[in-house]
Amino acid sequence: MKKINKTLLSNITILYVEDEKMISEEVSFFFKKYVKNFHVANNGLEGLELFKEVNPDILITDIQMPKMNGLELIKEIGSTSVPIIITTAYSDIDYFLKAIELKISKFVIKPINLITLISDVQDCIIDRHLQNKLFEKDNLLKIVDENVLLSITNKAGIIVDVSSSFCEFTKFKKDELIGESHNILRHEDTPDLFYKNMWKEISSGKKFSTEIKNRKKDGTVYYANLTITPVFKDDKIINYTAIRNDITDKKKLEQLIIEDDLTKLYNRRHFNTILNQEIRRVKRDNSTITLVSLDIDHFKKYNDTYGHPKGDDVLVKIGKVLKEHTSRSSDYAFRIGGEEFCLIFSGSKLQESLFYVQEVVNAVESLKIEHENSRNSKFVTISAGLIVQKAEEIINEDTLYKYSDIALYQAKVKGRNQVVLSEFSTKS
Ligand code: GH3
Ligand code: MG
Ligand code: MG
Repeated sequence: MKKINKTLLSNITILYVEDEKMISEEVSFFFKKYVKNFHVANNGLEGLELFKEVNPDILITDIQMPKMNGLELIKEIGSTSVPIIITTAYSDIDYFLKAIELKISKFVIKPINLITLISDVQDCIIDRHLQNKLFEKDNLLKIVDENVLLSITNKAGIIVDVSSSFCEFTKFKKDELIGESHNILRHEDTPDLFYKNMWKEISSGKKFSTEIKNRKKDGTVYYANLTITPVFKDDKIINYTAIRNDITDKKKLEQLIIEDDLTKLYNRRHFNTILNQEIRRVKRDNSTITLVSLDIDHFKKYNDTYGHPKGDDVLVKIGKVLKEHTSRSSDYAFRIGGEEFCLIFSGSKLQESLFYVQEVVNAVESLKIEHENSRNSKFVTISAGLIVQKAEEIINEDTLYKYSDIALYQAKVKGRNQVVLSEFSTKS
């Protein structure tokens, strides 16, 4: 864990806004050990008044509060260079969405880990001090070493130095990183092309910023905002410095917003986003879109026979099948309602799509999940309707969805456990 920088903390003013007394007292008790000027408000309105009065270096605020909530408070404060940390519960997702629009420095998920919170405070203050150039050079180096996730590589991409903070964060020792390339942190989701593009940019002398997914030594995944800057001597690149901010918490929250809790497939909210995005992409590339609606057969009977929890297990298992069948980067699987799913793929020809959806339907029956009261199989089955259209045939997302849904209905009428292609699908 990052060191507590007592000197830094003793000189700052913090405003903390939280309505829940227990949490507020716990956080205050901890912080007051280090921070002399620690002010507490019990709701947004009080927070706003105190903000004007004490002129804090940093604001920490809860979201859900009576009188004035955290987001209203931030809006009321208006444009400010004061860093803002939001403490939030996972259930605050809708608020969180709005928070993304406001410029929040950090998110801390409840229950609050005090050490994380204090280290976030330090990060924010240091960022601000660095911007204000308040530190003398010597001191600055020490602060950078202890607080900035920094690595330096040579021209060949070999790590030549790293900050202590980066070592602590990635759980590697300094000598385990020096002499290696950043491959040591690579996450398998990051494609080769990503690194190729990055090298193309930086070796031509340009600064490069990106979001990246990496792994620590113990395998833990983290997300960071990474900025790589070439360092020149006599017009020649001698090395590259890389600085990153940990954005893992923010990413996790973003994930929650687009994910279905039970199946971990994308949810309906994200379905709307992706369908819109893919239609635009297909129109741009003059390509083809496939939209599939899927629904479990006689699922009410399944719940009645085996109970709701077993029904949930079935949803999870089917979710897995759908995930396995949508592994290309242009494939997506969604749970859009209770026992209804959708798939989207672009670029596939009609026969390919039809064949593929039939495979999905077969794969579900092949799970051999017993369903003694189903009328069409001994096992749990699904029905599917799909529409395949070329760019110029697509009217909009609503019609696409309507066509796949009608086809699904026809699959039900024809006896379930089968695929029906919409009559509005492309003819050629
Ligand atoms: P059909 O073959 O015509 O689709 O029949 P069905 O019984 O599957 O369809 P219907 O729409 O009548 O019922 C859907 C059932 O899905 C009702 C509900 O009990 C179940 N269901 C919806 N959401 C969930 C869920 O999250 N968990 C569980 N276990 N069941 C769910
Ligand atoms: Mg059903
Ligand atoms: Mg249904």
